[in-house]
Amino acid sequence: MRFGLPLSIMSRSSEHPVHVVVIGSGFGGLFAAKAFRRRRDVRVTLIARTTHHLFQPLLYQVATGILSTGSIAPSTREVLARQANAEVLLGEVTGIDLERKSVTHEVLGRVTQTPYDELIVAAGAGQSWFGRDDFADHAPGMKTIDDALELRGRIFGAFELAELAPTEAERERLLTFVVVGAGPTGVEMAGQIAELANRTLRRDFRRIDPRDARIVMLDAGPAVLPSFGADLGGAAQRRLESMGVEVLTSTKVVDVDSTGIVVEDSAGTRTRIECKCKVWAAGVQASPLAGLLAQQCGLPVDRAGRVPVEPDLSLQGHPEVFVIGDMMAKDQLPGVAQVAIQGAKYAAKVITARLDGRPSPAAFSYFDKGSMATISRFSAVMSAGPVRMSGFLAWVAWLALHILYIVGFKHRATTLLHWAVSFLGLGRTERAYTVQQVLGRRALQRIDPEHAPTLPEVATDEPESGAKP
Ligand SMILES: Cc1cc2nc3c(=O)[nH]c(=O)nc-3n(C[C@H](O)[C@H](O)[C@H](O)COP(=O)(O)OP(=O)(O)OC[C@H]3O[C@@H](n4cnc5c(N)ncnc54)[C@H](O)[C@@H]3O)c2cc1C
Repeated sequence: MRFGLPLSIMSRSSEHPVHVVVIGSGFGGLFAAKAFRRRRDVRVTLIARTTHHLFQPLLYQVATGILSTGSIAPSTREVLARQANAEVLLGEVTGIDLERKSVTHEVLGRVTQTPYDELIVAAGAGQSWFGRDDFADHAPGMKTIDDALELRGRIFGAFELAELAPTEAERERLLTFVVVGAGPTGVEMAGQIAELANRTLRRDFRRIDPRDARIVMLDAGPAVLPSFGADLGGAAQRRLESMGVEVLTSTKVVDVDSTGIVVEDSAGTRTRIECKCKVWAAGVQASPLAGLLAQQCGLPVDRAGRVPVEPDLSLQGHPEVFVIGDMMAKDQLPGVAQVAIQGAKYAAKVITARLDGRPSPAAFSYFDKGSMATISRFSAVMSAGPVRMSGFLAWVAWLALHILYIVGFKHRATTLLHWAVSFLGLGRTERAYTVQQVLGRRALQRIDPEHAPTLPEVATDEPESGAKP
């Protein structure tokens, strides 16, 4: 535990506020920035590579046409508009210099350096294809708005192409959907694709019957929703199977191409599943910024690329740098929203205690509020302390909690409206997708530097974005 701390920090006033730089606008970054809203002696700069705060737990509903992107991704600038001591900068952080206390960020080739007094790094995690990044070409993950929109196009597009299929084999291939991963995201995706096929699209086609769709959910591990325990995992599996989803456990993916996926069971038998549409809902890899920080401190990262932190979430040897959320390795804590939110509030408490000359709070300790996952409309599983349930009541609890955590009244209202349409009726209001959304990711990867968009070089009279008081 540290007490008080640097005189230079303690003597800050509203004329010379402490500059807190926050990296990331996800759960960790946004809650960290907001935690300083009442502090006139703090100036916050939030740097993120997207202009929105993304509510990742509902990405699967964007992918399956229930919600619009705006419902789950409010503009960060708008969320912080009334917080006078906070500014928002768009940029990909490419470097953090712990010695010079400076962050390097970049947008369209324009590089900016932002110095900090205190730094909170909350850059989250990306998808991991377990060393086979080439799988991503054909089995996209689901971490961003781009991913969800691409998947929306691939899922609805598969039904469209099936309507045109010249042979039965091709029709079957197009109507086969494989979801890799039996964690919450895999369960939610498999359940929603089944609902699309069996309910939403039932009457929309003339040459195919969407109910013929084959939906496979597979996982290398032996159980569905392992973190929920055998009872709730079993309940989720039974519910999915009753909806027609084939669940394959102890089955790992060994190859993926554009027309199929090859899997291997625990006996070593390999099977090829012909399918056009695959969803990768397994594996996470911490932001490369975790490795970058670890390297500068001589620390090892864990298997998911996360950097170890001190009991107060700071980086070893750098009490002014905090790492929170999905990119920190601490006590085997899971990559969930509450870990990021509680970490953000805690890091802000440590900084404000220093500013006030108060003792640091006791070491960070995570309060597990429980977890939940939906399987279909009106069906979910929930585990919160002694309360463990599945079915309708768990779904109502899921509904209430998610509405509570969506940022902003506007977004809550539109989300409720979309849910009413989708859960009470047959419809899905967000079925639109474009060719660009489906093909854009791979096309962007092929842009050579000569054709990559950049900002023009201009002379500047402001040497550093963070230099002005
Ligand atoms: C599909 C899905 C479903 C989920 N469901 C649940 C759930 O039901 N319940 C639950 O508790 N958790 C769930 N999670 C996990 C939860 O969303 C994460 O644990 C949480 O978002 C972590 O917060 P974070 O702030 O660490 O990272 P994130 O929320 O991922 O935020 C990272 C931020 O950093 C930015 N960023 C990344 N790299 C850079 C860079 N180099 N420069 C600048 N900015 C950068 C990103 O743009 C983003 O703004 C889910 C995650 C996914 C992907």
